[in-house]
Amino acid sequence: MIEFEILEKIKQYNRIIIHRHIRPDGDCIGSQSGLKLAIKLNYPEKEVYAVGDIIPEYCTPYGILDNVEDDMYKDALVIVDTATDSRICDQRYKTGAYIIKIDHHDDSSEYGNINYVLPEIPACAAIITKLLNMWNFEINDKIASSLFFGIVTDTGRFRYRGINEEIFIQAGKLLSHGIDTESLYTNLYLKEDLIYKLQGYVYLNFKRTENGVAYIHFTEKLIKKFNVTKEDAANLVNCLDSIKGSLIWVVFVDQMLEPDPNCTNKLERPENEIRVRLRSRFVEVNDVAKNYRGGGHLTAAGATIYSTKEKNKLLKELDEKLKNYKETEKLCLEALKI
Ligand code: AMP
Repeated sequence: MIEFEILEKIKQYNRIIIHRHIRPDGDCIGSQSGLKLAIKLNYPEKEVYAVGDIIPEYCTPYGILDNVEDDMYKDALVIVDTATDSRICDQRYKTGAYIIKIDHHDDSSEYGNINYVLPEIPACAAIITKLLNMWNFEINDKIASSLFFGIVTDTGRFRYRGINEEIFIQAGKLLSHGIDTESLYTNLYLKEDLIYKLQGYVYLNFKRTENGVAYIHFTEKLIKKFNVTKEDAANLVNCLDSIKGSLIWVVFVDQMLEPDPNCTNKLERPENEIRVRLRSRFVEVNDVAKNYRGGGHLTAAGATIYSTKEKNKLLKELDEKLKNYKETEKLCLEALKI
């Protein structure tokens, strides 16, 4: 069984380096830390490292960032939780002796020697929990908290697709290790007052396409005016998740690239890169994301665009999707009163 092949590799290698993806989220950080700590607890003699770049503030209680030298990769097992290799943070992963991919995206590429991908599972942390249970690993409160944090964040607090009996049983077992849920949720929900002011702006100023796609563009000017980070702005995507008629919602976030003094050709390196976060209920949106250098899950995807022209084209495609969905599912939507 593939799950035990993974365990055999963990047993075989003395050094294990766990990578995360770029722009890590709660699931990514929770899975990485949970797996690192669990291997360390069950095989204390092994060297286990967690690598990547910046840890978002809301993940800091669970995030681990170790320093790994280049030459440590050559005899290391590398474990990665990322769909496509371009989104792996720290491309040194390629220089590892053996690579295992553990992931839950369906638009994956097979860059590992073992690729363990379960798209039906709503959080990577739930896959790690499942593996630890199968391997009979000992778990402590810290491991349980990291994995629970991953599951809670990637399932929208147990609301999204893929939630089933098994996930609740796993979460229940994790809770039995004594997770401080009050601190966990406090850390997730408390925000700086500046962010609420920007949230207020979103409610006053979001736009809708003809058929109801709700969107807001966090321009560089707006981000500076509200004195927040682009990450803070991007995290407001779900402010738009509960508007009747708007089963698709999107935020655009200017990335404010530093000018590259060596690049004279604007076409090679555009001045602005716009991060797109697409979300939906019922309607598939990752196919549209794929048309704009992106991908992701059916109802939660991301993309990158470079101009207003592309933004309008993307909105038009989403609008068309929503229109078709509303026409096809008219009776059902009427019955649900949405
Ligand atoms: P985000 O909006 O960044 O939270 O991304 C939502 C989902 O889409 C996550 O599962 C990401 O891994 C995935 N995703 C975001 N951006 C991209 C991209 N450029 N290419 C492929 N997948 C992406």
